[in-house]
Amino acid sequence: MEIKKHLLAKATRFETPYYVINENSKGKKVIITAGVHGKEIASILAAKRLMSLLKKNKLRIENGTLIIVPIVNRQAYKQRIRGIPDLNRTFPRKWKDKARHPLSVALFRIAKQYKPSWYIDLHEANGLSKINPRVLGQTLIINPKSAIIPSIKRIVAHLNSSIEQESRHFTMRLRNLSGSGRNSAFHLLKANAITVETCWSLPISKRVNFQLKILESILTEAKLIKRGTLVLLQQK
Ligand SMILES: [Zn+2]
Repeated sequence: MEIKKHLLAKATRFETPYYVINENSKGKKVIITAGVHGKEIASILAAKRLMSLLKKNKLRIENGTLIIVPIVNRQAYKQRIRGIPDLNRTFPRKWKDKARHPLSVALFRIAKQYKPSWYIDLHEANGLSKINPRVLGQTLIINPKSAIIPSIKRIVAHLNSSIEQESRHFTMRLRNLSGSGRNSAFHLLKANAITVETCWSLPISKRVNFQLKILESILTEAKLIKRGTLVLLQQK
């Protein structure tokens, strides 16, 4: 398994590392992004943890290629803000459209280069979707008509079976969000695109573990890792 570090938006003030973990270039390609919004900390910690497990060889990619951007918007992360402008509204909406921020330009460029089967964007949000349908905390969001509705239903059911408090259960949402990374990946690149949202008022260790568990399920579904390999390595 080979891990290569690269720089996204290289030589700009937005420069940020990304990693390409390659086991078999014939397998599926999966892109994971975190920190598109700088204050959604659990997403960043989960991506960093995943990277550290891979670097220590405690987690192995069995097949395919994984591309991880642990902190997309480092400037927003340093200030613990969502980011101005909202990066997740600057991705291209049509083929002729240009991304409207150096980071979304760079991210969309590598997404086009790798043509991922799966594009996973990690976030955090307000509230508990199970008790309030208007909020996005504890949701997996995919686009309407996405081919992965059955897999996401399965992943949500599997995840919820291990969450004692029903109020913290995850729900699946179907929505388009113009200018988001997920929308561009789904509509333009035909990827299985998912936004993961944990609720940021829950304890941080729980949120990171939810994020890792979801990543494990998706990476298993994409056949990059074997089931059970990541859950064993979660933070206590
Ligand atoms: Zn967000």
